[in-house]
Amino acid sequence: MTLFELWQEGAQSLEQAGVPDSEQDARTLLMEAFHLDMTHFLLERMRELGDTEDHTAAAAQYRQWIRLRSGRTPLQHLLGTQEFMGLPFAVNEHVLIPRQDTETLVELVLAEQKDPRIRLLDLCTGSGCIPIGLAVKGGYAQVTASDISQEALEVARKNWEALRPEAVARKGAQNAGGSAAQELIFYQGDLFAALPPETEPFDVITSNPPYIPTEVIRGLEPEVRDHEPILALDGAEDGLYFYRRLAKEARAWLTEGGSLYLEIGHDQGEEVSGLLREAGFAQIQVIKDLPGHDRVVRGTWKSGA
Ligand code: GLN
Repeated sequence: MTLFELWQEGAQSLEQAGVPDSEQDARTLLMEAFHLDMTHFLLERMRELGDTEDHTAAAAQYRQWIRLRSGRTPLQHLLGTQEFMGLPFAVNEHVLIPRQDTETLVELVLAEQKDPRIRLLDLCTGSGCIPIGLAVKGGYAQVTASDISQEALEVARKNWEALRPEAVARKGAQNAGGSAAQELIFYQGDLFAALPPETEPFDVITSNPPYIPTEVIRGLEPEVRDHEPILALDGAEDGLYFYRRLAKEARAWLTEGGSLYLEIGHDQGEEVSGLLREAGFAQIQVIKDLPGHDRVVRGTWKSGA
């Protein structure tokens, strides 16, 4: 048996199960099971695999993953990780797998918010990819995040523990000699109810809330529908439940001139803008993602506006 033959065997099983990108997924799982990078895979794929214990264990692991992937378990749940903003995030069934769409929101905040002393809050944080991406790339010293799910917060805390050294190192490099202390505080609870009442207002609030209308969830890919947390997807009847609440509740937690950044579904730009306008936000703007779909709505809070 060669790696190439194992690859073909796995790719065929995935193809028969209707998994998109069957060849690529099979190769990724094979390389992971055998601890190979692409160079070594290419060099060694035609060599006969010896009958060693290591090889037998790796092949068994690979075949088990192929079976699970054929049942449409997301690749990221098998690998346990997803890259976001160039950083590795641990994921499991309790958090939404970070999407490239969400990088649009993080990039926008990084581009618009240049002062590292500002206070940021991320709601519905899940894996923590938004606040951690912001803390690492933006060097913001004061970041708070919350989620209603204790299991999700466990993942987020673990991700921060793993990536905090990177945040501290970058911050140290940015302001040589200055304080490199960097904290990310997590709270569990329902949106703003998670925060202790004495919490100071924030300059920036971000959120990628659940926004899929309940009826639409049934029609999603099995990887999403059957394996990702419904709690992170379900935006109730019209998908707008959390935006209504965020629009109403956020102003009490924003500084004068503070900004709210919300990820949205591609067809929700107009409605979410309307909700922010009704709630008294100014400078409301819809921002597109790389493929050109509406993806973020931003509004500024001005009590006098
Ligand atoms: N973008 C995700 C999806 O399409 C949904 C994210 C969300 O509901 N916040 O599956």
